[in-house]
Amino acid sequence: MIRSGKFSDKKILLIDREPKTKNDRTWCFWEAGDGFFEEIVYRKWPRVDFMSDTFSDTLDISPYEYKMIRGIDFYEYCFKEINKHPGIEVVYGHVGQCVGHRDGYSLQFNSKMYQLGDAIVFNSIYNKPETTKGSLLQHFKGWVIESVKPVFDPDKASLMDFRVHQQHGTTFAYVLPFSPNRALVEYTLFTAQLLDPTQYDEELRQYIHQFLHLTEYTIKEQEFGVIPMSREKFTIFQNGVFNIGTAGGQTKASSGYTFQFIQKQSDRIMEYLPSGAGLSILPDTPTRFRFYDNTLLHILVHNTLPGSRIFATLFKKNKASQVFKFLDNESTLTEELGIISSLPTWPFLKAALKQLR
Ligand SMILES: Cc1cc2nc3c(=O)[nH]c(=O)nc-3n(C[C@H](O)[C@H](O)[C@H](O)COP(=O)(O)OP(=O)(O)OC[C@H]3O[C@@H](n4cnc5c(N)ncnc54)[C@H](O)[C@@H]3O)c2cc1C
Repeated sequence: MIRSGKFSDKKILLIDREPKTKNDRTWCFWEAGDGFFEEIVYRKWPRVDFMSDTFSDTLDISPYEYKMIRGIDFYEYCFKEINKHPGIEVVYGHVGQCVGHRDGYSLQFNSKMYQLGDAIVFNSIYNKPETTKGSLLQHFKGWVIESVKPVFDPDKASLMDFRVHQQHGTTFAYVLPFSPNRALVEYTLFTAQLLDPTQYDEELRQYIHQFLHLTEYTIKEQEFGVIPMSREKFTIFQNGVFNIGTAGGQTKASSGYTFQFIQKQSDRIMEYLPSGAGLSILPDTPTRFRFYDNTLLHILVHNTLPGSRIFATLFKKNKASQVFKFLDNESTLTEELGIISSLPTWPFLKAALKQLR
C-alpha cells in the first residue's frame, strides 16, 4: 500500500500484540526472478537437494531460485518504511473481537470496546478451528549451527531429506547453508500431534551426527513453529472483516508454504482496493487446487501412502520447476494431469473420490 503511493491521504491503524524485535522465523520460498522483497533476501540457492531412500538427486530448479528471508530483516525493513508515514499509526496491545455492523466496526482492544466507524478491517489473527479432524500440523524445530570444519556447500540448499525415520508420520529434515561453516538445519513433521519439546532437539542432534557427520558445532539460534495443514474452508470475508495471511486461508494445506501466497493475496487486494471495487469479491483459492490439497492431505492423514514416497515420485518423475508451479497453484489443467498421472493411481483415486463425496 505504501509503495503504490495511492493511500498517502488515508489513515491506517496497525495493531499488533508487541513490537517485532525478534528473529522469530525464517521464510523460505521459490521465486523466478526478483521479487517484491528482493532487497532483504538473506540467501538464495539455484539448486536444491532432494533425498529419500528411493530417490535422491540435486535438482535444477530454474527458472526458480530457492530464497530465504529472515524474520527480523523483514520486520525492520517494513517498519523503517512504515515509520516514515505519518498517516500510519502503530499501537500495541491485545485485540479481541472485531465485528462489523451497520454503523461501522466495534473492536475490542485491551478489554475496551472501540468504534472504528467506516473502516476497512484486515485481520491476520488465526483462530484454530474447533475440530481438526482430517487435518495435520506441520511442526518443526530449527537450529542455526556453526561448525568447526567447513562442511556446507553454500551453492545449494536441501529441500527435503526423507532419510530420517518415519515412525511418527511424514518427517524430513533440511539444511540451508549460509557459508561453509554455518547453516540452518530444520527437522519437520506433518502429523496430528506435536512431539515432546526435547524430542525435536534429540532428532536434530541425531540428524546432524548421522547425515552431516558433525560432532563439533555450536547452536547459534533456534526456531520452532507450527503451521496448520487444514482441510477447513477459510472465509476471506467474515463478519465484515477481511481475513488475510494464514487466517485468510493462504497456507497451502498440503505443503504448509504460505509466504508467497500471502504476497499474491496482497497483490490482489492492491488491485481491487484503489479501484473502489468491493473486496468481498476477492477471488478464493481455485476449487481444483483445494481439491488436490485435500486429496493429498487425506492420504497423509490416513497414511495410505507414505509422504516420502509421494514427494520422491513427484520429484523423480517431473521437472522440479513443474512441481513448484503446481505447488504454487499456477499450473494449467494439462500440466496438472501430467503430474497427477505420475503418482500411484489407486491411493490417489480413492482419496479423490472421498473428497468428491
Ligand atoms: C517459525 C515459522 C517459520 C515459517 N517458515 C515458513 C517458510 O519458510 N515458508 C513459508 O512459506 N511459510 C512459513 N511459515 C508460515 C507462514 O509464512 C508464517 O506463519 C507467516 O508469518 C504467516 O503470516 P500471517 O500474517 O498470516 O501471520 P503472522 O505473521 O503470525 O502475523 C499475525 C500477527 O498477529 C499478531 N496477533 C496474534 N494474535 C493477536 C492478538 N490477539 N492481538 C494482537 N495481535 C495479535 C501476532 O503478534 C502477529 O504479528 C512459517 C511459520 C513459522 C511460525
